[in-house]
Amino acid sequence: MTIDVEDYFHVSVFDGTVRRAEWESMESRVVANTERLLDLFDEYAVRGTFFVLGWVAERHPALVRTITGRGHELASHGYAHRLVYEQTPDVFREDVRRSKALIEDLSGRRVNGYRAPSFSVTERSLWALDVLLEEGYRYDASIFPIRHDRYGIPGAPRWPHTMPRAKGSLFEVPGSTVRLGGTNLPVAGGGYFRILPYAWTRWGIGRVNREGQPAVFYLHPWEIDPDQPRLPAGLLGQFRHYRNLHRTETRLRSLMRDFSFGPLETVLAGCAA
Ligand SMILES: [Zn+2]
Repeated sequence: MTIDVEDYFHVSVFDGTVRRAEWESMESRVVANTERLLDLFDEYAVRGTFFVLGWVAERHPALVRTITGRGHELASHGYAHRLVYEQTPDVFREDVRRSKALIEDLSGRRVNGYRAPSFSVTERSLWALDVLLEEGYRYDASIFPIRHDRYGIPGAPRWPHTMPRAKGSLFEVPGSTVRLGGTNLPVAGGGYFRILPYAWTRWGIGRVNREGQPAVFYLHPWEIDPDQPRLPAGLLGQFRHYRNLHRTETRLRSLMRDFSFGPLETVLAGCAA
């Protein structure tokens, strides 16, 4: 179970319509939404990994301590929510260093994991894995082995695996897919969870598990908040962001009844053993 802890206005869909300078003045809903998720997880005895955006950690330090205090793993979603392939390696290094230091200072816990905004580690930003290793990260969860307009490496391995790099090896935890007709299809989280019927997710995760692998499910706090302020975006963006927000909580409850979940640190320990 993984959560990318960010506010509704951080989402890449709004990169072209909401200026970063405006973030500070927008109504923040991330604390209340994350606390709702924490309550739901308690109800179903689920523990997960929370990839916290540094920008959020800086403004809501108590939230970082609450997440770890309630038994979940803390990881980094970077600082400023910029797509990796739109940054230089130096800017990216500063971004992942700043977020890791912030979350570690606030929590007193070591941060091992990173997930890029919009899974933006692709063929043209694989250099990011070397930077992550150099900055002390042990695993990355940013490569989606699918074809998509904004992210994905369609031929990348589908299961958690070790990636040997020049500076050492990094554990990679891909987004979950099922393979149908020679194509990888995403099955476990975010818009795919909200937009497609729940039966797709249940079937897909079951199939991944039957292949002997853990599924990596991901969600954002804003995805359980149907009352969030509406922001301008293109038609596709509107559809991806707002579709079925009112259904997410019920679906999440079904998901937690149908499967058991843990934080990536424990799942990965099982994979490495
Ligand atoms: Zn994000």
